[in-house]
This record gives sequence, C-alpha cells and structure tokens, in this order.
Amino acid sequence: MYSIDITVFILGLIIGSFLNVVIYRLPENKSIIWPGSHCTNCQTNLKIFDLIPVLSFIFTKGRCRYCDTKVSYQYPAVELLTALLFLISYWRYSLSIEFLIYSGLIALLIVCTFIDLKYQIIPNKITYPGIIIFFIISFFFNHITIKSSLLGIVLSGGFLLVIAIVSRGGMGIGDVKLAAMVGSVIGVKYTIIGIFIGSLIGSIISLILIGFNIKDRKDRIPFGPFIAIGTVVMIFYGNVIINWYLDLLAF
Ligand SMILES: [Zn+2]
Repeated sequence: MYSIDITVFILGLIIGSFLNVVIYRLPENKSIIWPGSHCTNCQTNLKIFDLIPVLSFIFTKGRCRYCDTKVSYQYPAVELLTALLFLISYWRYSLSIEFLIYSGLIALLIVCTFIDLKYQIIPNKITYPGIIIFFIISFFFNHITIKSSLLGIVLSGGFLLVIAIVSRGGMGIGDVKLAAMVGSVIGVKYTIIGIFIGSLIGSIISLILIGFNIKDRKDRIPFGPFIAIGTVVMIFYGNVIINWYLDLLAF
C-alpha cells in the first residue's frame, strides 16, 4: 500500500548520495563520474557495503572503516533531506511530470545550498545548464507556459540583479542566476513570493545566529539557501499561500 512511498524515498536516498558527490567534487573541478567513491582521508576505494545511504553511516558510527576518520554529517543529512523532499513532492503531485520536474529542481537547489554554505558561491555549472534545460522543458510540458518560463528567467533574475546592485555585494550574481533558474520552472510570481518567504526565514535565522554569538553582524550569511527554502515552500504550498493571502485581502 505504501510501496510507492518507500520506492520514492529510497530513490531519494540514492540520488541524495549522488548529490553528495556533486557537492564535494564540483567546486574542486573534479570529475563527478571518475574515480569512484573513496575515503577523502585514506583514499581507500569504498565498497558497496560502505555506500548504502544513511545505513553505512549508522553502522560505522560515522567513521571510515579503513582509517577511522570521522565522516561529515553532511552525507547522511543530504541523503535524508533529498529523500524527504522527493517524498513530499510525490505526495503533492503524485507520479506526474510535475513531480519529476520539481524533484529535479529540488535536487539542484540542494546542491547549490550546500556548496553556497561551504564556499559562498553558487556554481555556474549548475545554474547555466539549469536555466537552459528548464526553459527547453517548458516547450514540452504544461507545468508552465513558454512565455511564463521566459518571463520567469528574465524578471526573477532582473529583480535580484536590482537588489544585488543596490545592496553592493550583499547579494551575489550567483543568487541572480539561481533566481533565474527557479523562475524558469515556477514563474516570476511564485519565485518572488518564495524569495520574500526565504528572506523572512533568513532574517529570523540570522538574528538567532547573531543573538547566540554564532555569527558576527559583519559575517556574510549566504542567501542561496534561503532562496532554495522559499522555492521549496512555494513548490509545495504556493497555491495555498496565495489563496490564503487573497482571502486576507477580501476581508
Ligand atoms: Zn578512510
């Protein structure tokens, strides 16, 4: 009865495990295909038993079996996050083309989020092909019109470009391209509402981090992850939020 839920979740874990490879290797310009997975400390090639998402991490208590070095919590976290978001995407859109397209966007957002958190960059190798491929996809499927996809790219990117210029480096050009990629899939209206939601969450988290002295007021807090969070909220609950807002206006 829940077999599709379980299949989607396991598929999410496996794709999440691949996203870890992309997150780790893309910023260092390493091939994501070759060589196979190895311990980043002792270089030992990992066997099938070491590569089972989440479970390998639990069985080895988060350490390399060969050299005992601690393995980053990021690995199981990315796997679980991918699996969970794919599952919610399936619940929301069932087995449809929307489910595939939105899950694809979510996977790219996860990669951009973790690279931005670590390196303060959003890789062009993700955003440029993303914008082009999602625009081409709009020719073939009905999740968005071709015109809305194009306007989504130009206006969402343009909106953040204006903010980037006004904020003088507070927001990066990487964020502009990320917004353009999101716009190509969900259109300008959803993208900009998502950015507002993301900014709100970002402000609250920044205040907490500064309040607990984890971050300094001058530290740059990457904005990409908050664009990603806002986008995921809009993918899952965009129409609920817009209807709620329209109801509010009707009062
Ligand atoms: Zn090792």
